[in-house]
Amino acid sequence: MQLNEGASSEARAEARIEASTADATQKLWFDGQLIDHGSLQATLSTHAMHYGSGVFEGIRAYATRDGAAVFRLPEHLERMRKGCELLGMTFDIAQATDAVLATLRANNLGDAYIRPLAWYGDGGFGLDVTGRAHHLMVATSATNLHLNGGRTRVSVSKWRRNPASSLPPLKLCGAYVNSILAKREAKSRGFDEAMFTDRSGNVVECTGANLFMVKDGSVVAIEHPDALPGITRDSLIALTGAASRMATLQELLDADEVFACGTAAEVAPISRIEDREYGS
Ligand code: PMP
Repeated sequence: MQLNEGASSEARAEARIEASTADATQKLWFDGQLIDHGSLQATLSTHAMHYGSGVFEGIRAYATRDGAAVFRLPEHLERMRKGCELLGMTFDIAQATDAVLATLRANNLGDAYIRPLAWYGDGGFGLDVTGRAHHLMVATSATNLHLNGGRTRVSVSKWRRNPASSLPPLKLCGAYVNSILAKREAKSRGFDEAMFTDRSGNVVECTGANLFMVKDGSVVAIEHPDALPGITRDSLIALTGAASRMATLQELLDADEVFACGTAAEVAPISRIEDREYGS
């Protein structure tokens, strides 16, 4: 896949991840076994395909002199366990840990993006998932992207983020249709990424990343009950001593710097929110 010179770091990460997950020579972990990527098939009545009844994670590993180091794996898998619990799927953290490490080793990866997915499979189109079979897979793909300085142009979405009272901020597959709508809207308007705001004008998050702002040297991690409590965000708060609080869109527009952060995005400086340009 060709990438535009000017593509944002997140867009590059997404393109890279898409490109490399299509590699049929890679191994996938599926329900306890390492198998070839191309040998897997799901039936067309897979429940998760119809209703989004699955839970996923996005995790990174970084190459070190001692081999691949997975960034905060226990926290990612604990978040996944919570999502699975909500949907009634058993999820064994020890097994998932082994699966992630085995897949990385099988694919001989250092810098990598890791995608575990738990989902409801075959067994009819009813919405009751009681007793339905569920599965776990782990895919990995090579990625060489680190803090490449891409500058992201962000629009303010007309869509609202799923309210936590309807869909808790966990990585539930179906919840990401909301992100897809906002991303489509942003792209069609010539932006790289979308930002959600609530009805009171508070900022929530981006489609797959949290937000920070910097004003007069103070760093603020944007907090919102409808936003995913990101693991990258948590690490950045620890590193910068940022205050975590709610903020209005107007505060972000008045800030000196704004950036997005997440596992795929890492730390992505924002060059523009709608007409407001930063750092130029
Ligand atoms: N918000 C959303 C909606 C996300 O999908 C992600 C990516 N997981 C994040 C924030 C950032 O979370 P993390 O730093 O844990 O990847």
